[in-house]
Amino acid sequence: MVKDKETILIDTGRPGKVKNILKEIESLNIKPKNIKHILLTHHDVDRIGNAALLQKETGATLWASKEDIPYIRGDKSRPGVKKLGSLYLSVSDFFMRVKKPEKIKSYNDHKMDDLEIIPTPGHTPGHVSLLYKDILFAGDLVRNSNGVLKMAPAIMNADEELIKESILKVSEYSFKWVCPCNGEPLEIKDEWKQLLNNIAGN
Ligand SMILES: [Zn+2]
Repeated sequence: MVKDKETILIDTGRPGKVKNILKEIESLNIKPKNIKHILLTHHDVDRIGNAALLQKETGATLWASKEDIPYIRGDKSRPGVKKLGSLYLSVSDFFMRVKKPEKIKSYNDHKMDDLEIIPTPGHTPGHVSLLYKDILFAGDLVRNSNGVLKMAPAIMNADEELIKESILKVSEYSFKWVCPCNGEPLEIKDEWKQLLNNIAGN
């Protein structure tokens, strides 16, 4: 479990970005070896693409939901258009030795010290959002499209209705900032309310 002041990395980008990510981490005055945990919000290739190599570089424990781990390990194939993601991963592995992460722990409760793991399925079966103080790390639950919070395009989602339920569930928590995987972090004022209105209107 996460201990006070341990450094955490959330998601790892698409394959081939290890050097960029390590450079970015060092620019924040964080030594890669001080990253103790890598938390994955879901199994998509653009979130897990550097997980294995970053785990090797940092020695961190890698975490994901039990529902998404089989997709990350390659025991289950990604559905629909996401098959292309798996192909991209295989090609990246061939050319860049990306490798699939092997040692992955499953989030076994919903608390890691003062970080809350909120199951928010829909985009993938085991998608999670992470709440730290007043910041919601939303993964692909929502995206910031020029200041407007939106759901991912339908073609990218396992279950649209389930995402809406997940957004409603998250609405019960208190947070000021949303950090989605796509788009800039957003200090929310009316944007979340607008998102709920859009969901209700659909
Ligand atoms: Zn995604």
